[in-house]
Amino acid sequence: MSGPVFPATRSEALSRLTQFVPHAGSAYASGRNTDPGPDAQAAVSKLSPYVRYRLITEQEIVAAVSDQHSLQSAEKYVQEVLWRTYWKGWLEMRPSVWTHFIEERNRSRENFPNARAIASAEAGLTGIDGFDDWARELVETGYLHNHARMWFASIWIFTLRLPWALGADFFLRHLIDADSASNTLSWRWVAGLQTVGKTYLATTDNIARYTNGRFAPKGLAQEAFALTEAPVAAARPLPELTPNDAAQPALLLVTHEDMNPESLFPANASIKSALIAAEAEYLWGDAASGFVREAATGATTRMGAHFNCPVQLTERLSAITLINAAQAANVSQIVTAYAPVGPLADALALLAPALAAEGIRLVQVRRDWDELFWPHAKKGFFPFKERIPDILREGGFA
Ligand SMILES: Cc1cc2nc3c(=O)[nH]c(=O)nc-3n(C[C@H](O)[C@H](O)[C@H](O)COP(=O)(O)OP(=O)(O)OC[C@H]3O[C@@H](n4cnc5c(N)ncnc54)[C@H](O)[C@@H]3O)c2cc1C
Repeated sequence: MSGPVFPATRSEALSRLTQFVPHAGSAYASGRNTDPGPDAQAAVSKLSPYVRYRLITEQEIVAAVSDQHSLQSAEKYVQEVLWRTYWKGWLEMRPSVWTHFIEERNRSRENFPNARAIASAEAGLTGIDGFDDWARELVETGYLHNHARMWFASIWIFTLRLPWALGADFFLRHLIDADSASNTLSWRWVAGLQTVGKTYLATTDNIARYTNGRFAPKGLAQEAFALTEAPVAAARPLPELTPNDAAQPALLLVTHEDMNPESLFPANASIKSALIAAEAEYLWGDAASGFVREAATGATTRMGAHFNCPVQLTERLSAITLINAAQAANVSQIVTAYAPVGPLADALALLAPALAAEGIRLVQVRRDWDELFWPHAKKGFFPFKERIPDILREGGFA
């Protein structure tokens, strides 16, 4: 298997987008469910590693698509891109779901008695046609088609009866696009936790049909009883942010959560210096951290040229690194793109008081896209989806 390769540069993201856009209409709508295999041309865009780390933004993708298609003819594709935005907004307003996932994963790691069953599922040694292939494909390429992710999660939970949180953890450790919101909430959705009581059952016929007959696994679970949990806390409002005083000289901190600060902070912002963090610590696996390291190296040149300032690369995001960089730039403000719920957000929350003790403000800036869409992720995707055209117009996004 050679599989897809994802060079981690913004120019690669832009060129993929350009190549994909003509196919974002009916070709995508009719072909998106088919997974022809890692070495064949699929109808999907394979943009997820780029949009996950915002080497390219959802806004740029939707703008490029709506330049060539009406919103109606590219509706399916635009909605899929908006699933990503929806999951992010949903989790942002219910951060305890992320914390519970981490607790559940840790509990399952300690208590699940059949470690050999987990090892065999992860190594693709269960004997289940397709499932074993997807396990190997994930580990070798860092990517799986959306339908394969759904089948895999369903078989993991309902046929193999393994803990869902360990399956979600396996994905996080190997996906290049590993994402706290899309991954956790998709696994929860398959398990019947996200839309309470509604599960996703993988069937032999569906797999055979949408893999072009490559796989037809036998012995799959015939029923999928929803997992249960205590009710999820009600949605909280989005966290208030410290206002960004754009005129105040600042150190720009670039993290893996948004590697495209050129489109967030204007070129004439008072950026005195930039620190690019290629930290593996707040990512889950080698595939993701390798991608981010390469993207960070490329960002160094881009940031220097765009903000006309010195740029430094660090592999460790600590209070001392930030304090030293801010003091070297002679600034008392660090600006960075907003870190959504996940390990980096937790780390920044811990770093902020240490910086404040040195008289340095850490200011997180949210994109207009997130600001406008996220508050609508209070309920299910259906009401969110209904609002998409209006919000795109309101934000001038399409
Ligand atoms: C169990 C499971 C786990 C998943 N884990 C992740 C994850 O960790 N990170 C991640 O980015 N996506 C995740 N997804 C969502 C989806 O599978 C991938 O985003 C998609 O397969 C990426 O391929 P693509 O770029 O070719 O998608 P396309 O079909 O070309 O879609 C375009 C873009 O829309 C977004 N998108 C499409 N489908 C979804 C979806 N169902 N949910 C959220 N966003 C979507 C992605 O950003 C994608 O790049 C998961 C789905 C499942 C079922």
